[in-house]
Amino acid sequence: MNLNTPVTNLKGIGEKNAKLLNKLHIFTYEDLINYYPREYVNYELPVSVKDVQIGKLQTVSGCVSAVNGPVSAGRFKIITVILRDGLSNLEVIFFNQPYIKKMLKVGGIYLFRGKVIQKGTRIIMQSAKIYSRNDYDELVGHPIPVYSLTSGLSGKTVTKAVNAAIHDIQWDDEIFPVDTMTDLDIVTHSKAISMIHNPANEESIKIARRRLAFEDFFYFIMLLRKNRDLSVTLKNAYPMIETADTRRFIEKLPFKLTSGQKKTWQQICEDMSGNGCMNRLVQGDVGSGKTIVAILALLMTACNGYQGALMAPTEVLATQHMETVSDLVKKYNLPLKPVLLVGSMKTSEKKAAYSLIKEGEVNLIIGTHALIQDKVEYKNLALVVTDEQHRFGVRQREALANKGNQPHILVMSATPIPRTLAIILYGDLHLSAIHELPADRLPIKNCVVKTDYRPSAYKFISDQVAQGRQAYVICSQVEAGEDDDLENVIDYCDKLKDALPKLRITYLHGKMKAADKNSIMQNFADGNIDVLVSTTVIEVGINVPNSTVMMVENSERFGLAQLHQLRGRVGRGKHQSYCIFISSNDDKKTMERLNILAGTNDGFKIASEDLRLRGPGEFFGVRQSGEFSFKVGDIYADSALLEETNEYVDKLLKEDPKLNDVKNQKLKESVIRYYEKSEMLQSI
Ligand code: ADP
Ligand code: MG
Repeated sequence: MNLNTPVTNLKGIGEKNAKLLNKLHIFTYEDLINYYPREYVNYELPVSVKDVQIGKLQTVSGCVSAVNGPVSAGRFKIITVILRDGLSNLEVIFFNQPYIKKMLKVGGIYLFRGKVIQKGTRIIMQSAKIYSRNDYDELVGHPIPVYSLTSGLSGKTVTKAVNAAIHDIQWDDEIFPVDTMTDLDIVTHSKAISMIHNPANEESIKIARRRLAFEDFFYFIMLLRKNRDLSVTLKNAYPMIETADTRRFIEKLPFKLTSGQKKTWQQICEDMSGNGCMNRLVQGDVGSGKTIVAILALLMTACNGYQGALMAPTEVLATQHMETVSDLVKKYNLPLKPVLLVGSMKTSEKKAAYSLIKEGEVNLIIGTHALIQDKVEYKNLALVVTDEQHRFGVRQREALANKGNQPHILVMSATPIPRTLAIILYGDLHLSAIHELPADRLPIKNCVVKTDYRPSAYKFISDQVAQGRQAYVICSQVEAGEDDDLENVIDYCDKLKDALPKLRITYLHGKMKAADKNSIMQNFADGNIDVLVSTTVIEVGINVPNSTVMMVENSERFGLAQLHQLRGRVGRGKHQSYCIFISSNDDKKTMERLNILAGTNDGFKIASEDLRLRGPGEFFGVRQSGEFSFKVGDIYADSALLEETNEYVDKLLKEDPKLNDVKNQKLKESVIRYYEKSEMLQSI
């Protein structure tokens, strides 16, 4: 078997399971072995009934003395299992799981794993998983991988399939020379893959991660180098002068630019009127006002007779930019002629836009990656701005730049990255930073609470709505079945409507059609929706200054950096804003981690603290956010490795710039393969 063998070749993967795996983008052996665990669980030694601890997740071993029920209670049919141990009792409660009754024998010994709570005098375990002694023994003593699943697919099936694939594959030879691996202290690729799926202990997870993170960084840096070589100091093909329009616009704005905005604007002016081509990254925390700086640059471009493009990661965001710009054009009589170009537009609309762009009837083109498709021909594209860079690959940026004859490049990012790393990760971009938030902002008030706070939170939301404000509620899942421990948008929206019947509540998620998403976002922005229950699709860029509450369910499942991005959706106007982080796990570490958010609004500080508190096995549990969505590598946690990789690439390319050396042949092949793959990944 090789990497391209289809998964249907595996025992246990029939048509049905194959379809489910396909949903997770797993088609071949290679896809399967590259499907890394989301996290690892350490199964604890079982305790007896009398030793259970309230509030803890644990495994209890005991003799079943009765199986009562099912008893109907509302939507639920409840079965209660009684475990007895001398004088101690434990009730294990099951909801809507009728098969439990047949599965358990009174008098039999079983292991139950779940969280134990106290209800009055009763001690209860809920959502328990049941094991036989033998099955459980196999789980204890080493980290057990947990995979992200889809409804109908079991963890067991994935684990078995992964291991069978690892066993069957005829591995290609290692691509890195032996001395390189020794120098960098990395294991072979095949060893890392086998360890990441079957770690003997925490240390093996670390070792496997190191190799896989190294690969992430290595290919990425190689791609940057290639681009850098392509764009060595280019001459300014579109020299511009600062015109009266931009000055007039700045004077008329209802607010004063912050000093960071002013400085950045000045640097952009100097770049675009200087000798070289601009290649600049603007880093500014969420809400720091990057859009207006981008619009200034686009205005200057238009005033000099050229076209500019503004590329956003989502249609929602592109559409919003279009509206912002159109409003400004009207209000300030700006010489900007904008047009929108997004994938979901009708063919006829697109054709009309193409022709306006080609003929030079418009001087500002706003859109998504539709802007980089072959069909778009520009008349004289002189500036390309990519907003919220983190959803775009280096590739896409490059493709858009290639559209014109070496236009100026401006990249906007809210990901906080220290300068040393930014230099590596952004290759040859010059850096500008907007450190402060506009002066009229009230700091957001935060709270980190448990699920029992929900009624108060709902009351709070309805009070805010009564004052004319709006709210977001974030759930991590789209619909039931993916991971039942987590809240999902669709059911939650129903629940919330029941709890707050007078409010206008709607949901939004990434699997909806672009046109539907746009119209919901538009309705929300227009104030026709009070509460938007959403997945993290709203995380990026959206600007609705009237919304003042951000409530996040299952906060413990998100990375702090991502929660910080979400928080950035409120506190964007003059009203006091609030964040409610709900955690369904109240262990000390989780609460400590989430409380970092409550303690500071500084994005970089949050990212570094997040790192300090994470243990080696937890990296997959915390969903990464930010522009560098490496599979394993984390720019904060692995910053030292990132620098080492950068040095290694420097050395490698210095000794063998074209990778022609015999010992680097395998490496060369795989780098070329990576380039080709990333070229195919034009869309997101
Ligand atoms: P981000 O940096 O997250 O993209 P935006 O550019 O969307 O932030 O700006 C957020 C809000 O702040 C917008 O409503 C914008 O009009 C406003 N804003 C921008 N600059 C200033 C400023 N200097 N003073 C007050 N408000 C500002
Ligand atoms: Mg923005």
